Amino acid sequence: MRLGRALLWGGAIGLLLALTCGCQRQFVFSFTWLATQTPTTTVTCTATPSSTHTPTPTRTTTPTRTATPTASITQTPTPTMSPTATRSPTASPTVTRTPTVTLTPTPTPNPFPTPDGMQREAWVPILMYHYISAAPAGADALRRDLSVAPADFEAHLRYFRDAGYESITLYDLAMYLQRGVPLPEKPICFTFDDGYRDHVTNAVPLLLKYGFRGTFFVITGFADEGRAGYLSWDDIISMHAAGMEIGSHSYMHADLAGQTAEHIVWQVLGAKEALEARLGAIAPLFCYPFGHYDDLVIAVVRSAQYWVGVTTAQGLRNASDGVFELRRVRVRGGDDVDDLLLNIEYLRNLDLTPTPTPISATRRG
Ligand SMILES: [Zn+2]
Repeated sequence: MRLGRALLWGGAIGLLLALTCGCQRQFVFSFTWLATQTPTTTVTCTATPSSTHTPTPTRTTTPTRTATPTASITQTPTPTMSPTATRSPTASPTVTRTPTVTLTPTPTPNPFPTPDGMQREAWVPILMYHYISAAPAGADALRRDLSVAPADFEAHLRYFRDAGYESITLYDLAMYLQRGVPLPEKPICFTFDDGYRDHVTNAVPLLLKYGFRGTFFVITGFADEGRAGYLSWDDIISMHAAGMEIGSHSYMHADLAGQTAEHIVWQVLGAKEALEARLGAIAPLFCYPFGHYDDLVIAVVRSAQYWVGVTTAQGLRNASDGVFELRRVRVRGGDDVDDLLLNIEYLRNLDLTPTPTPISATRRG
């Protein structure tokens, strides 16, 4: 209420000045001053002085508008909002974009789930996709290898749905490995690296069509830049709203192995804070760029309160004592359902072998 009264007086003073002196600049200043004094969400309500400060004839005729703005404004539904009655409702969405909101998140507590001491194994295929689009003409071998055509991807999804699989998130997997929270009978994980734009245009609609969720590891610096071919923040937010799990693939997709602690912290923690500020949710999943990491990288990832670290190492078995080195099943361009199942079975057998012999570790495709 104290803040409300401050806002009231500030607004009233500003309004008075504006009306009596015809000096809009002072009016704006009073709100700006208030905004600098009270860095809370309520500030954003009074700090909505976009370009529509000019008193208009409608000011006195629409006093009830104050009760109808967006959710952020309804957090302080006091009469002190009346000076802003002439604000156009269309101006309010821009409020959430102001730096005072997006760059000063309240710390989100997400302590690692306390392990219950039980050692568990999960034989859950964590499928690793990159592009969900056909490789462009003239693409090199690497690009073709990373590119799964939407038709192939849909065939994978159709198979797993018809076979009775249920998708789980890596959050679910972590909770199972550390706390024993049960998993479905036939779990599978769909993960997507690098935050390519075709994830929102191709992957998400197909996942939703078949009733699955996916885990998308995005590069937050690329979203900041609006880099072509990669997910924007609007894309990422919409994917999250659609039920997809969003994880960090670092700030700029830098190779972290062998780097200084300062560099790793910048890449690892910066991306996490950006995701949490934008999504309003914890972001406890990390995927090592290029699959490269060392002990220091793991230590930083752990200290930054991530829950899991995902590698590019291939394997089917993951365990409670290896949540920062989760292994996956690489899906390659051109892999049909048989290829995929053959690889899963191959990795299962490899993990069941007491002493795997990498020399024989060849696979079809
Ligand atoms: Zn990557």
